[in-house]
Amino acid sequence: MFPGRHRPPARSLRGVETVFDASVDPDLVERSLAASRFGSMWLDGNNTTRPEYPRLTEPVTCDLLIVGGGYTGLWTALHAARRNPGQRIVLIEANRIGWAASGRNGGFVDASLTHGAENGKARWPKEIEILTAMGLQNLDGMQAEIAELGLDAEWQRTGMLAVATEPHQVDWLQDAADAGEGQLLDAEAVRGEVHSPTYLAGLYSPDTCAIVHPAKLAFELARACTNAGVRIFEHANATRLVSDGTALRVSVGHVHVRTRQAVLATNVYPSLLRRNRLHTVPVYDYVLATEPLTDAQLDRIGWRGRQGIGDSANQFHYYRLSMDNRIVWGGYDAVYHFGRKVDPDYEDRPSTYRRLAAHFFITFPQLDDVKFSHRWAGAIDTNTRFCAHWGAARNGRVAYVNGFTGLGVAAARFAADVCLDLLAGVPTPRTELQMVRERPLPFPPEPLASIGIQATRWSLDRADHSAGRRNVLLRTLDALGLGFDS
Ligand SMILES: Cc1cc2nc3c(=O)[nH]c(=O)nc-3n(C[C@H](O)[C@H](O)[C@H](O)COP(=O)(O)OP(=O)(O)OC[C@H]3O[C@@H](n4cnc5c(N)ncnc54)[C@H](O)[C@@H]3O)c2cc1C
Repeated sequence: MFPGRHRPPARSLRGVETVFDASVDPDLVERSLAASRFGSMWLDGNNTTRPEYPRLTEPVTCDLLIVGGGYTGLWTALHAARRNPGQRIVLIEANRIGWAASGRNGGFVDASLTHGAENGKARWPKEIEILTAMGLQNLDGMQAEIAELGLDAEWQRTGMLAVATEPHQVDWLQDAADAGEGQLLDAEAVRGEVHSPTYLAGLYSPDTCAIVHPAKLAFELARACTNAGVRIFEHANATRLVSDGTALRVSVGHVHVRTRQAVLATNVYPSLLRRNRLHTVPVYDYVLATEPLTDAQLDRIGWRGRQGIGDSANQFHYYRLSMDNRIVWGGYDAVYHFGRKVDPDYEDRPSTYRRLAAHFFITFPQLDDVKFSHRWAGAIDTNTRFCAHWGAARNGRVAYVNGFTGLGVAAARFAADVCLDLLAGVPTPRTELQMVRERPLPFPPEPLASIGIQATRWSLDRADHSAGRRNVLLRTLDALGLGFDS
C-alpha cells in the first residue's frame, strides 16, 4: 500500500509522541483478538466459494505458458486469450488460485502505477503525466472489463480518503491538494465523513480508487480465463525453465510443459530466472478484520461513503469496509526477516496483531465493543523503486514482472499488458515508457540487505516521531533513488 507518499519538507523537531503512542487498555486488546481466526478473511470458506482446478499429470504443449495464478498471471492469461483467441494458453499455479497476495490484500484498487504520485514524480518527472493518465485508463478499463465479463468481485468505486493524524501531515495533504491530487477536507469535514477523533484533515480523491473483494476478483478472473479457453492447473509448482530448441521447457515435478513463450508472474516467490533473485525482498504486511458491524456500531462511525482510507505516516494503516460491513484494518508494521525467505511461520505475529488492534481502538474509541474475527499476513514483493519492474529473457520468449511493493491490485492488469507487449516484440506506448525500460538496482546480499533494511525501518519510525523529518540515511537514499517500503 501507499507508504511515504508525501516526502516532507525539512521541519524543526516536534514532540516524540504520535497519536498511536497513546496507551490502550491491554484487556480490551486481548478480548478483541481472543476469538480471531488465523487466515485471510477473504479466503475463508464461510464467506467465499472457491473454485478448484486439476493437477498437471501429463505433458502439455502450448503457445503461451503463464507461471503464477495471482492477478498478474490471470490478467495475462485473460488478455492473451482476448488478443489472440486461437492461442493454446496454459496457466500453472504452485498452490491454489489466488491463495497468496491476491487473496490476502486490502482490496484497494488504486490507479497509481508508481506506488503513489510522489514516488512517480521523483523518479520519472518527464513521464509522470502519461503514467498518471495510463493508471487512470487502466483503472477505468478494469472497471469496464469486470462489468462486461460479469465478474462478481464486489467492485465499488468509492474513492480514496487520505487522513492526517499529525499536524505536519496536514501540510502534506495541502501540498497534494495544491498539486491537484484531491480535495482537502478540514478536521470538521473529514470527521463528518468518518468519525475519528484522530483526524486533523483529509484528502479525498473520488476517481483514483475502487475497493474490491480481493479473493473473489482472483476466482472470477480464473473463471473468465477458463471461459476464454485457458487451461488452469493447480498444485503445479514450476521448478525449472530451460530453452529447448526454438521452444521452452518448464518442469513441474516430473511432468514437462513445452511452450513457445512464457510469462513469469510469480511475485515474491523465487524467480525461475536467477538474474531476478536479488531484485526483490519479501516484506510481511499484517491485517485484521472485524466481525460485521451492527447498524448501531456503523452509526457511531458514519463512513456512509465507504471510502478506502489510509493515514499518512511512513508507517501507515489502511482500512476499508467489506460488503458485509466488516472493517478490514491493516498495515503499520512492515517486517523483513533475515535471509529473504517467504515462510508461513512469519505470518502469525501476536505482537503485531496486538499493535494493530490497539491502533484500531485509538482511531475508533467508540467501537470498543467490536471484536476481530480474522487475522492474517502476506508477503509483499518489495524492490528498491517501490513499483513493478519488467524484463524479457531467452531471446524475448520469456517476459516477467516483479516488485509491486504493496500496490499491485490495479497495477497487475497494466503489468500483464506490458508482459504481452514484450512478448509480441513490437514497441507500444507502454513498452516505450522509461519506467518499463529501466531496471531497479538490486538489494545487496545478506547480511547487508538485512542491516540496510532494519536501519531504514528504524529511520522511518524516527521520521514519524519527528514531524516527518528524514534523517541522513533517508535523505541519502532519497537522493540515490533507493529505499525500502511496503
Ligand atoms: C497483506 C497485503 C495487503 C495488500 N494490500 C494491497 C492493496 O490494498 N492494494 C494493492 O494494490 N495491493 C495490495 N497488496 C499487494 C497486492 O496484493 C499484490 O501486489 C498483488 O496481489 C500481486 O499479484 P501477483 O499475481 O503478482 O502475485 P500473487 O498473488 O502473489 O501470485 C503469485 C502466484 O505465483 C505462484 N507461484 C510462484 N512461484 C511459482 C512457481 N514456481 N510455479 C507455479 N506457481 C508459482 C504463487 O503460488 C502465487 O499464487 C497487498 C499485499 C499484501 C500481502
